[in-house]
Amino acid sequence: MAHHVSNERIERFEAGFHGDLIRPDDVRKSEALVSPSERLHRSEDADYDDARAVWNGMIDKRPALIARCRGVADVITAVNFARENDLLVAVRGGGHNVAGTAVCDGGLVIDLSEMRGVRVDPEARTAWVQAGATWADVDHETQAFGLATPGGLVSETGVAGLTLGGGLGHLRCKHGLSCDNLASVDLVTAGGDYLTASEDEHEELFWGLRGGGGNFGVVTAFEFDLHEVGPEVATCLVFYSADRMAERLRAYREYVASAPAEVSTLTLAGVMPDEELFPSDVVDERKIGIVGCHAGPAEEGERALRPLRELGEPIADFSGTMPYVELQRLFDEDYPDGMRYYWKSLYLDDLSDSAIDRIAYWTDVAPSPLSTIDVWQLGGEIARIDAEDTAFAGRYAPFLLGVEANWERPEDDDANVEWVRDCLDDMRQFSDGSVYLNFPGFLEQGEDVMRTTFGSTYERLVALKDEYDPTNLFSLNQNVTPSGRARTDGGASDG
Ligand code: FAD
Repeated sequence: MAHHVSNERIERFEAGFHGDLIRPDDVRKSEALVSPSERLHRSEDADYDDARAVWNGMIDKRPALIARCRGVADVITAVNFARENDLLVAVRGGGHNVAGTAVCDGGLVIDLSEMRGVRVDPEARTAWVQAGATWADVDHETQAFGLATPGGLVSETGVAGLTLGGGLGHLRCKHGLSCDNLASVDLVTAGGDYLTASEDEHEELFWGLRGGGGNFGVVTAFEFDLHEVGPEVATCLVFYSADRMAERLRAYREYVASAPAEVSTLTLAGVMPDEELFPSDVVDERKIGIVGCHAGPAEEGERALRPLRELGEPIADFSGTMPYVELQRLFDEDYPDGMRYYWKSLYLDDLSDSAIDRIAYWTDVAPSPLSTIDVWQLGGEIARIDAEDTAFAGRYAPFLLGVEANWERPEDDDANVEWVRDCLDDMRQFSDGSVYLNFPGFLEQGEDVMRTTFGSTYERLVALKDEYDPTNLFSLNQNVTPSGRARTDGGASDG
C-alpha cells in the first residue's frame, strides 16, 4: 500500500523520474475536453485503467502507483523509492503472465513497457534488447539480417518474463531455450545497484537469471546470441479428428523419438472452433493439431515434417513454407487480451500409453471449446546443456504438458479452473511433480512446488536471493523465499 507514503515523498520521486507516474485518478479525457496546451504536454498513456490492465481478463488489480520507466535511471529511482517506503512491488515486462504478476493491489508497479529498443549487431550476431520488448519487436529487428533467437509462440508476449522463466519456442530443440541464448543481462538489484551479469561477471547471478524468474532484480536489458534462421521456414500445422486421438498421439511419440535435430513440435488437443480454419461439419468437434517448425533449409524441412502430415486423413492441413516472422505471429489472434485464462503445466516422465489415454479423457471433458491440452516436445539442445550451467529446471524431461483453460464468461470461471486443477491432479501420476515456471495458474504454487521443481538447486537459488534480495522486495513471482523473511500480498489471488 502507498497510503502511508506522504505526498511530499511522492512528489520528490516524481521530480526525479522521467517516465510517467500514473495514479488511480489519472483518467484519459475524451479528445473534445483536452485543451491545446494539454495536448502538447500530456503523456500518451496516462490512463490508469489502461495502465493497470494485463493480458489475462481474470486479473483486476489496483496499484497505488504505476511507474512507467523511460530508462535505467528511472528503474533505479523506482526501486529505491519502493524499498525506502516499504512498498509492495510488481514488475511489468510484456504483461502476459497468466497469474497477473505484472500488477498488484496497492503498491508500486515498475513498468518497463515503454523500454522496447532492440539493437542488432549482425557481425557479432547478438541483439541487445530492452526488457519491455515483446518477441514481435525482437523478431522484426533480427530477421532484417536473417537472424533469430529462440522466443515464444506468441509474438505479443514479453521477452522479459518468458526469458527469465526459461522460454520455449519454435527453435527450442535446435537452439535451446531463450535463457540458454543469453550472453548477458543488465539489472537493478533490490539495493538499487546497477550491474551486468554474464559468464565473466556476477557469474552466479547470471546462472540464477537463466530460469530462476524475476527474483533477483529488475532486468533493464538482455543480450542474446543470434542464429541464422529463415527468412522462410518449413512449418507443420495439421489437424486430425480426435476420434482416434490416442492412436495419433502414439504415432506422434514415435515420430518425435527419431525427429531430426532441427524439428520442434507440440500437439494441441481441443475443439478449437475456428470457422475460418475448419470445414463446418467439424468446426465444433474435438481435434488434435500438430504444430511445428524446422529450423533449417526450408526444402529439407518440408521433407522432415511430412510424416506428421500423414498420420491419417487430416481434417485440415496448413503446413508449408512461410516467413519465420509470420510463424511467430500465427497464434496471436487465438489469445486476445482481456479474455479469461488459467494455465498450468507438468513435466512428463514419458508420453506413455496410459498418459495419452488420460489426455484424451481430459480433452473430452473440457468445459470450454477454446481450451486445449498441449504436449510440448523437449529434448535436443535443451537437454544437451548441463543442468548445473543454468538454474532452469526440467532440462531433461522429454515432454511438457500444458493445460490451458481459455474461456469468455465470468460465470464459467469455477468450472474452468477446476478442470485444469483436476486434470493436473490426475496427470501427476506421470510426472515427478515439477512444473514450468511460466504457466503458474494464479500463483498458488507455493514453496513446496518450487522445491519439487528445482530439487537441490533450490538452496542455491535461496543463497542467491539472500545475496541480492534478502527482504524479498521482488515477491510477486514464482517466489524463491529468502532465508530471512517471506512477503506476499495475496497479490495474485489463489483460487
Ligand atoms: P509480465 O506479466 O510482464 O511479467 C511476468 C513476471 O516476470 C513478472 O511478474 C516478474 O516477476 C517477471 N518480470 C517481467 N519483467 C521483468 C523484468 N524486467 N525484470 C525482472 N523480472 C521481470 N512461454 C513460453 O515459454 N513459450 C511460449 O510459447 C509461451 N506462449 C505464451 C503465449 C501467451 C499468449 C501467453 C500469455 C504466455 C505465453 N507463455 C509462453 C508464457 C510466458 O512465458 C509468461 O506468461 C511470461 O511471464 C510472460 O512474460 P511477460 O514479460 O509478458 O510477463
